[in-house]
Amino acid sequence: MKKRHPLLAAALSLLLALPPAGFAQSDLPNLGDTASADLPWQLERQIGQDIMNQIRQREPTYLDDPEIESYLNTLGGRLVAATPEANAGFYFFALEDPTINAFAMFGGFVGVHSGLILNVQNESELAGVLAHEVSHVTQRHLARGLEKQKQISTAGLLVMALGLLAARSNANVAEAAMVGSSAGMIQAQLGFTRDFEREADRAGFLVLQKADFDPHAMASFFERLQKATRVYENNAPVYLRTHPLNIERIADMQNRAQDLPYRQVPDSFDFHLIRARLLARQGTPAEAVAHFQGLLREKRFSSLAATQYGLAVALERQKDWNGVERALQTAREQGIASPLIDRLAAEARLRNGDATGGLNAYREALARFPKSTALAYGYAEALLTQQKTDLGLQFLDGRIRADSRDARLYLLRARLYAAKGLTAQQHHALAEAYALQGALSAAIEQLELAQKSPSADFYEQSAIDARLRQLKQQKAAETPLR
Ligand SMILES: [Zn+2]
Repeated sequence: MKKRHPLLAAALSLLLALPPAGFAQSDLPNLGDTASADLPWQLERQIGQDIMNQIRQREPTYLDDPEIESYLNTLGGRLVAATPEANAGFYFFALEDPTINAFAMFGGFVGVHSGLILNVQNESELAGVLAHEVSHVTQRHLARGLEKQKQISTAGLLVMALGLLAARSNANVAEAAMVGSSAGMIQAQLGFTRDFEREADRAGFLVLQKADFDPHAMASFFERLQKATRVYENNAPVYLRTHPLNIERIADMQNRAQDLPYRQVPDSFDFHLIRARLLARQGTPAEAVAHFQGLLREKRFSSLAATQYGLAVALERQKDWNGVERALQTAREQGIASPLIDRLAAEARLRNGDATGGLNAYREALARFPKSTALAYGYAEALLTQQKTDLGLQFLDGRIRADSRDARLYLLRARLYAAKGLTAQQHHALAEAYALQGALSAAIEQLELAQKSPSADFYEQSAIDARLRQLKQQKAAETPLR
């Protein structure tokens, strides 16, 4: 299957924008003598955010699904909390890609392929791979990998990171991305060195153990990967290429786990639901429905409730709302409660034309799971669709007071203001969303648009002016990515 790689195009266009090879090195913008050996975290974070924004905008495999993202961040957050060196800046996201891989980017952004989530045998194996990636970040492997490179431009870093990204599931693309790059810069970063791998394994192992997952899972996953050419066909080598694996690494993990008592660690129910959700997105809607019907008919599942949920997601793709409600009802009869089930049930009601029932279902679900972000987004969106914009804005105000770092809440606020024709407030909300995503130029642009909009009263206008001054100062303090 041929895949588009617009990020590769971005990487190559950035390469072209760089000064040609042989350009006097002293003329290149650089991080300074000490900085290249020790890339400041703030700059690493800035580069990471920049790449993350590009992924959100132009990477076709980026999985813009709040429920999957929330699951990964809960799982990853548990690992980060068990990592003494970690700061709070981690962000986990999913890519719809059948290859088995996960990768850490600059600044604590960790990408996870759907193929990995679907091919692990239990949640501890997934946690093991993520713990390894978290450790690449906390051990500063990307920054330390730059030590050999005495002079490197920030744009060079960006190119390198984009090349790494484009290369993550395709060997040919990796080679293409290296064409024209200077001094094998990308090549050096495509795979971490064996020393870094060993370090990430060992640190990751401790994290896995401390976070109460099964510490044997790392060795068992590596072992299966190594035997994988047969089992996974072409999907396994990608991970092996970016994380060189050898017998010594597997033995090391086995030895460490050996001394620990065996402990049964049950998978979370969300783990099963998220896997069903990913599986239900594969193939055509009819194929997905048939797949889950087959599993249920032949009783080939570890969780009946999760399989019914998978069927419901597949039926949602067919817009069979009665079918969705029936499948979810069967899932609930298993004694299972989850915001994922509740959200889809509320959506099915709404789509079935029962606006009052759907909104009530959302309210009841939010009372049961007040922390669920996906329920909050779904409810706000439903209020927008039902033209209950005042109620929607009031609801979002409360959520934003509780968590002012959630960019999606501001994006929804912007849409609700737009529906009311309040353009100044709309641009202001968009500016906050962009600022949270580290896109300061875009945020400033939105505030300038807000200044020109007539819908702001005196107080709002001064708030917009003050915020604009603040962001401009923040922007001036950033290291320019040139
Ligand atoms: Zn690795």
